[in-house]
Amino acid sequence: MPILVVGSVALDTVETPFAKVEETLGGAASYFTTAASLYSQVNLVAIVGSDFPREHLDFWRRCPVNLLGLQVKEGRTFRWAARYHMDMNTRDTLDTQLGVYEGFHPTIPEEYRSSNLLFLANIQPELQMEVLEQVPDIRLSVLDTMELWIMTARPQLTEVIKSVDVLLMSEEEVRQYTDRASVVSGVRQLLDMGLQYVVVKQGSYGALLFGADGTYFSAPTYPLEEVIDPTGAGDAFAGGFLGYLSTVEPDPYGHYSVNEIKRGVVHGNIVGSFVCEDYSIGRLRTLTMNDIAKRYRRLFECSHFDPDWHSR
Ligand code: AMP
Repeated sequence: MPILVVGSVALDTVETPFAKVEETLGGAASYFTTAASLYSQVNLVAIVGSDFPREHLDFWRRCPVNLLGLQVKEGRTFRWAARYHMDMNTRDTLDTQLGVYEGFHPTIPEEYRSSNLLFLANIQPELQMEVLEQVPDIRLSVLDTMELWIMTARPQLTEVIKSVDVLLMSEEEVRQYTDRASVVSGVRQLLDMGLQYVVVKQGSYGALLFGADGTYFSAPTYPLEEVIDPTGAGDAFAGGFLGYLSTVEPDPYGHYSVNEIKRGVVHGNIVGSFVCEDYSIGRLRTLTMNDIAKRYRRLFECSHFDPDWHSR
């Protein structure tokens, strides 16, 4: 089942307390595409400049990635630079250069319109809305965003939130958007906007799933010994989540069971954890389903406890 993604393809410069990499492949859609293509074909919609290294396109051509919707325009590719703090969970954005994204409008090729799953990766909310208008029959739509849009494009972001099924937000973004100190109460406000699920990303602490039906699930995180670069973990999370769902048959009404959604969240956590083990998409290049399966078992073992306890 092909997955449609729209978002940024970028060249990132990332500094951690331990090292620095320059102009490496980045962008929300890049991480998502590479991660989700481990499961199914990914139909990518994005734009790059004429300076975008060919080798990245050649890599995606060897994966099940359709590049028909990737526009190549004379000019500079989107660039982003950030520096991580010692905790490797928080970072400062040092520079954002839109380049060819200025004036970009996503066009969904005819061939992509049969995609059932959609990821609206991090990009201006107006552009995310343009995508939704072009694929009205999508089965499941997942939205990601960031602080920048909460601060600068709130009304547009609100329109997009009201039009999708699943919202991914970091704990901090939930507080910023809802202006509530309690994440649970903030999520309640978000669910009241019509979402089916909200996934609260907690960086190295895992993810929480909240459903409009009352579902609450706390997905554990894999205990990584060493984090090299957490950039793109959120997008790879989405890649694991939708990637897993792309392998599952929904019910006749096109709905996924809560158990499948939970498994999707666990896949998200696992793929997100792998991304942190190298810069850029480095670790995803060699990742196999077997690696994912091993981590899946390990997470099951470390998150279950004996339910047979009775207080005296
Ligand atoms: P994450 O670590 O999951 O938040 O994703 C980081 C990725 O988002 C980086 O590879 C950046 O290139 C990309 N990114 C950063 N800022 C923006 C922005 N304003 N619009 C779109 N993508 C961005």
